[in-house]
Amino acid sequence: MSDYPSILLENAVEQFASLPGIGRKTALRHVLRMLRLSEQEVEVFANSLVKLRKEVHYCRQCHNITDQELCPICQSTRRDRRLVCVVENVQDVMSIENTGQYNGLYHVLGGIISPMDGIGPADLEVDSLIERLGREPIEEIILALPTTMEGDTTNFYLYRRIQNAGLDNTPKVSQLARGVAIGNELEYTDEITLGRSIVNRIDFKI
Ligand SMILES: [Zn+2]
Repeated sequence: MSDYPSILLENAVEQFASLPGIGRKTALRHVLRMLRLSEQEVEVFANSLVKLRKEVHYCRQCHNITDQELCPICQSTRRDRRLVCVVENVQDVMSIENTGQYNGLYHVLGGIISPMDGIGPADLEVDSLIERLGREPIEEIILALPTTMEGDTTNFYLYRRIQNAGLDNTPKVSQLARGVAIGNELEYTDEITLGRSIVNRIDFKI
């Protein structure tokens, strides 16, 4: 028999518990709170998720999240289009934007190479990065991936791909200054440290 007095309650708890970092106890608390809201308030909550899933997609150019074809950063005329910062995910774009220290464009890989998890270059937005290099006036690629073994592997792979892409003008490749602690994901690095490590970025060396 179920622990819950209603199958509907159990279903809702299961949905919340499917989110990362939310156990069944916390899930139950959220669901019970929902029950105290008006029907209309719950509808607003649920609809915002449905609308998000339906209308938000990935920027055609940098794979950031947007509700248009191109994200606001790619569309902006104020950004320095010679710089492209390569990051693992959309949260990293937000972290770097929050520093206010970077004015170039981005390229979101959608992950990093991780043989243990079965993630290879073909699963990531690598080809589209190389295509951008042939199409856009990019002079510098800033690798801003986590300083983990997977991050290093991905940096090395990208560097090789860029060097071997047969471009007329191979861009300079740089990486964040190592102010970002080893193993830290960008998301958890404080803004000042992150901002400084972009400003003081160093040449990428194998
Ligand atoms: Zn974009």
